[in-house]
Amino acid sequence: MDQEKIGKFIQQSRKEQGLTQAALAEKLGITDRAVSKWETGHSLPDAAIMQDLCEILHIEISELFAGEHIVMENYKEYAETLILEMKQQEEESAKRLLFIEKCLIYIIIPVYVVMILSGAYVCNEGMIPIGCLLIAVAVISVVATGIIGLHIEHKAGYYECPNCGERYVPTYNAVLWAPHIGTARKMRCPHCNQRGYHKKVISKERGEN
Ligand SMILES: [Zn+2]
Repeated sequence: MDQEKIGKFIQQSRKEQGLTQAALAEKLGITDRAVSKWETGHSLPDAAIMQDLCEILHIEISELFAGEHIVMENYKEYAETLILEMKQQEEESAKRLLFIEKCLIYIIIPVYVVMILSGAYVCNEGMIPIGCLLIAVAVISVVATGIIGLHIEHKAGYYECPNCGERYVPTYNAVLWAPHIGTARKMRCPHCNQRGYHKKVISKERGEN
């Protein structure tokens, strides 16, 4: 916080209200020395009187901290930039998650096949406990990968209804029980209530990927 800037802003706002330091001090029930200290940037108003001070000076608390008038237009622009940044971050993380899921699937499936085959071979050679262990580990890995993949698909991005174009986040159970082709899942649209294969999309806005 720029104490000096805040001080100058208090002084400017006080003058705009046609108040002397003494008059402002009296309204707040403090000494004019305290007002002088704020205005020269030597101290900040106590939190307890900030609200009253802002009311008397006809400024917002956020403006007091900023040390300047904040125009409503800027607020809107600022909020929009913030929302856009958040959206971009969300999309980036959805893309990353879906990429991780793909890697998991492409790595685990060959490993799974190799483990099952070696398990079967080892069983055939008479080492049944080792063979069974290999197969069990393979099955557990596949189930674990499936669960992780399902969580990722539920969390990352949105599903799009081909009928009405609605993009939404389904419940975990809906994703769990839905038949799927690739990442498209057969689900009921919460908007138009039609069942169909809803494809995975990264962005909430239609017309974007
Ligand atoms: Zn729909």
